Amino acid sequence: MQTPKRIAVVGSGLVGSLLAIYLRKAGHTVHIYDRSPDIRQIQFSGRSINLAMSNRGWKALDGVGVGDAVREIAIGMEKRAIHLVDKLNFQNYGQEGEAIYSISRGILNRKMIDLAEEAGAEFFFNQKIWDVTLKEATLHIGETERGVWEEKKYDMVFGADGAFSRIRHRMQRQSMFNYSQEFLNMGYKELNIPANPDGTHKLDKNSFHIWPRGDYMLIALPNLDGSFTCTLFMPFEGENSFDLLKDRKEVEAFFEKNFPDSIDVIPKLAEDFFNNPTSTLVTMKCYPWTYEDKVALIGDACHAIVPFYGQGMNAGFEDISVLYEMIEEYGDDWESIFSEYQKSRKPNADAIAELSYRNFMEMSSKTADDKFLLQKKIEKWFSDKHPDKWIPLYSRVTFSDRPYAEALAIGDLQNAIMEEVLKTDNIERNWNSALVENTILELLK
Ligand SMILES: Cc1cc2nc3c(=O)[nH]c(=O)nc-3n(C[C@H](O)[C@H](O)[C@H](O)COP(=O)(O)OP(=O)(O)OC[C@H]3O[C@@H](n4cnc5c(N)ncnc54)[C@H](O)[C@@H]3O)c2cc1C
Repeated sequence: MQTPKRIAVVGSGLVGSLLAIYLRKAGHTVHIYDRSPDIRQIQFSGRSINLAMSNRGWKALDGVGVGDAVREIAIGMEKRAIHLVDKLNFQNYGQEGEAIYSISRGILNRKMIDLAEEAGAEFFFNQKIWDVTLKEATLHIGETERGVWEEKKYDMVFGADGAFSRIRHRMQRQSMFNYSQEFLNMGYKELNIPANPDGTHKLDKNSFHIWPRGDYMLIALPNLDGSFTCTLFMPFEGENSFDLLKDRKEVEAFFEKNFPDSIDVIPKLAEDFFNNPTSTLVTMKCYPWTYEDKVALIGDACHAIVPFYGQGMNAGFEDISVLYEMIEEYGDDWESIFSEYQKSRKPNADAIAELSYRNFMEMSSKTADDKFLLQKKIEKWFSDKHPDKWIPLYSRVTFSDRPYAEALAIGDLQNAIMEEVLKTDNIERNWNSALVENTILELLK
């Protein structure tokens, strides 16, 4: 236990609510502010997104004893189901027993708020934070940006207010604050595969479904009620873009041609397509993440990444695990806690940003590419034979809690090795030969 403080968390999203549970565990008074209404009181649709939870997320949840409550609302996906135009392939994610878990973001957020409340955190919804006085950890709250603001003073403030954080906005006006933001020329839109009349799933429920098509793709993740939440990722403009799908006929023709096996399972395709918004994807980096012992950023507020590794929330949850390690190490010395937290996390946040960006290429085009599939087959075969020598990059990111920066560096080395291996004569036939095995062993030295 630390000396109890009054702490404000801005943002009742996934990261803000889990952070609140940890801060309660450390003995603090925790007030959470959110500009939105209580997500438990509203209907969400069209923008709910399904998330894939993996090891880092589970570790943070289990660290404060709430993992099992979340497991009740999760569905294991041990493989990718790759829908090519004319066939369906399956590819396991990891070793036997390893899976990622599909959870509805909205349902998870409701659960996390319930759990934080049970832990004693107090929530204040419909409260817009417009500014923070960094030196005094004082929040400025009001109905409008130009209206009257109320001040709330705390001992400490956490900005868990997402990619367009107001808390960060204030820190950005400090000298020596670095900041960059880059939008992809690609948006996403939610679609829906309803359950069968008897409540069963229309597709294999323990798979992460992907329809990879080069510069665009469709994915579908299972829900507990038998439905799937689909996300269509596609450029805003150009060939195969949102720009070209202007009416019902164009959307239906596009899906019939490019995702033929999805037609029967998405009955309200055009309705969903035109009712649901097209959202943007951004990578945001910044530094520093903290101000003295008063203010700290956490989650998307300090590292928003594109979603193609399924790690945004996992990385945000891992921020909390690391922060808590620092709390245990430094006790009441919040200046050291903040300083070591940001130093430890920043290189890893940059690494997962890079990996996520690269994984878009892998998911959208390479999963349909023969050379890539052969590379994965060789890696899997070698890793089964020498599990101590070769952990595939995806497993390092998803099924371990070793630093992301380490996974990126080792992944680059493995790729260089595989490039050499793929040059072997008749590699398509000799992929599991002694020659290939020895080449890899030699190159690993
Ligand atoms: C399409 C898509 C798919 C994804 N898939 C995955 C996945 O499979 N796995 C994964 O790990 N991650 C995934 N992510 C990333 C994940 O959604 C985010 O990393 C995660 O939600 C970040 O949580 P957060 O709490 O930091 O921020 P947010 O969820 O953005 O929450 C911020 C909260 O702050 C509140 N807020 C904002 N501004 C203010 C203000 N001024 N005053 C008061 N309150 C404010 C907001 O209302 C919100 O409740 C995906 C993201 C997208 C877009």
